[in-house]
Amino acid sequence: MRDFSYVRPDAAAEAVRLVARSADATFVAGGTDLLNLMKDGAEDHALVVDISRLPLAGIEESGGRLRIGAMARMADVALHPVVPKRLPLLSQALLASASPQVRTMATIGGNLLQRTRCWYFRGTGFACNKREPGSGCAALEGRSRWHAVLGGGDHCIAVHPSDLAVALRALDATVHTLGPDGARTVSLADFYREPGDTPHIDNALRHGELITAVEVPLPPAGTHQRYLKLRDRATFEFAVVSVAAVLRTRGRIVEEARLAFGGIATQPWRSAEAEAALRGKPLTERNIAAAGRVLVRDAQPREDNEFKVELVQRALQDVLGRYTGGSR
Ligand SMILES: Cc1cc2nc3c(=O)[nH]c(=O)nc-3n(C[C@H](O)[C@H](O)[C@H](O)COP(=O)(O)OP(=O)(O)OC[C@H]3O[C@@H](n4cnc5c(N)ncnc54)[C@H](O)[C@@H]3O)c2cc1C
Repeated sequence: MRDFSYVRPDAAAEAVRLVARSADATFVAGGTDLLNLMKDGAEDHALVVDISRLPLAGIEESGGRLRIGAMARMADVALHPVVPKRLPLLSQALLASASPQVRTMATIGGNLLQRTRCWYFRGTGFACNKREPGSGCAALEGRSRWHAVLGGGDHCIAVHPSDLAVALRALDATVHTLGPDGARTVSLADFYREPGDTPHIDNALRHGELITAVEVPLPPAGTHQRYLKLRDRATFEFAVVSVAAVLRTRGRIVEEARLAFGGIATQPWRSAEAEAALRGKPLTERNIAAAGRVLVRDAQPREDNEFKVELVQRALQDVLGRYTGGSR
């Protein structure tokens, strides 16, 4: 790791100005991802701007929405009185992430911007278009158990890592930012990018743009919410497959199903087709299975990750199956 300069400003505008004016500057929040990337040589920055003093850790409910400051710690959000009650999906996804130690240090903004766990990206001895544009993708011919079956292509098949982002995708959250050109709001649907031929660009942020908050609409009372994460061990482990579901029913009929998936795709994955396969129909095992088939219709698995195609359909059946009342 090369030497770098470090500053800790008190104002968001100053933090933005410092990063925006230098191409090899970056923000650090909890540091639980950035410092590992720098130590491993996967990222290299001459200036690190610490945003931990910025007043961005508040969590406020107002007008049917919860606004979560970007510097709020994962543990504090998971246990905030409003979250387990009104947004259990968010609470479940956060508590299924990392470990208590990491969640106590790591922030909401940092979690959304953590880099992929693809070992070819993190191991600097391998070709990786995400780390070094144009160098190739070792994962395409390598071990692919952890890689994406949806959203990838010829340049990158790295899986998006954040559990939080999958939950927020199902909850139709928006991201608030402050950049050199001022403040703006981006829906989570437009926040993450598919790799295409520019896999080094993960998201819609411009250089120097700071996430200030995330805003989540509170679903109406009676809405079912559930996060299921399947992983190789019970803690301190990323998802092999995950499902986030927000479900509203009238009697047995599905009024709305918002479904997002992790572990299977290059970004938190929503399937409008799978949701449409359920909307207006009775919630039965058979209809859930049909939605699952639609979800994986365009999957492009490899030898090591073919199992995910079956596993994600079973996970969906598990998540929604508990609300069918036994209807086949
Ligand atoms: C062993 C281990 C297991 C883990 N398991 C999981 C898991 O199961 N699920 C999961 O979701 N995560 C997991 N993680 C990842 C962990 O959640 C992230 O490291 C953490 O959320 C990052 O937050 P941070 O505040 O430490 O970010 P940092 O490391 O400080 O920053 C990460 C990135 O975000 C940028 N950044 C941070 N805040 C802002 C902001 N407000 N605006 C603009 N840019 C910003 C930084 O510049 C950097 O690029 C795991 C991590 C470890 C080490």
